[in-house]
Amino acid sequence: MFNILRKSLSTGVVTTSYPETPPEVSARARGKPEIDWANWKDARPAAKICPTGAISCEDKNDRRSASLDLGKCIFCGLCADVDKSIRMTHVCECAVRSRSALVKEADYSLKPDGTHDRLVSPLTMDASTGSGQLADIPRPSAASLETLAQKVQERAKRVLGRSLHIREVDAGSCNGCEVEIVGLNSPVYDLERFGIHFVASPRHADMLLVTGPVTRNMELALRKTYDATPEPRLVVAVGACGCSGGIFGVNYATRGGVDSVIPVDVYIPGCPPNPYALLHGILLAVGRLETKRR
Ligand code: SF4
Repeated sequence: MFNILRKSLSTGVVTTSYPETPPEVSARARGKPEIDWANWKDARPAAKICPTGAISCEDKNDRRSASLDLGKCIFCGLCADVDKSIRMTHVCECAVRSRSALVKEADYSLKPDGTHDRLVSPLTMDASTGSGQLADIPRPSAASLETLAQKVQERAKRVLGRSLHIREVDAGSCNGCEVEIVGLNSPVYDLERFGIHFVASPRHADMLLVTGPVTRNMELALRKTYDATPEPRLVVAVGACGCSGGIFGVNYATRGGVDSVIPVDVYIPGCPPNPYALLHGILLAVGRLETKRR
């Protein structure tokens, strides 16, 4: 008993103060890739090496349309290895409320050798995200997230009359995302400090946290779980697989992203997204509770 107390006192508080402070990610942790769009010389090598098709390009006459889809990106860093205009960041807070907000596109005029001459159209990105700033700015405003975190319990109480409950649904993931989700209940991330709890039944849940590229074997189970969750239910798609099908895409065994089966409120990119990215996405989804209730 005394040993436990002594150990606890010597360890002190290990819980992160996120979202009040920025995520404390390892220097070796990879975040989303960033492209220097204005000075990008050639999209073809990166598009060729990208294993998920997250970077793609299409030529028409003397124009090239190049795009980066963070919903498909597995943060592998291969594109940055072959292209100096691309760098891997440590930014993990990439969650958005609209699938199209994860896609950036730009058009280039071409030189005779097929390299880019210049950027001819401004970078396009869907602004109807409800959180556009979160998609484009390296780090969202800590103040706005802090306020959001403080309001989580209050908002959940007002809308639901109690705390917020999450049911995790593995719709065919490799369990990489589950490992990170388990971390949310650890003393370091401590999801329960927001009054958010994991529950065993969708009938007790307000939010479904769905991982995996939705295997065809899990499709019916996912639909039934969604139907069993009472309104106003929130759905958060976790990881590249949940956002788009990821490395698996759509094939004989998988349906692709979660939104190909049920409506999704928030998308959390990453492969897998770390607990900070998950916290960010969950807090973002909580902000939708009231609008869904109306
Ligand atoms: S980091 Fe993303 S965009 Fe780059 S090669 Fe890997 S999957 Fe493709």
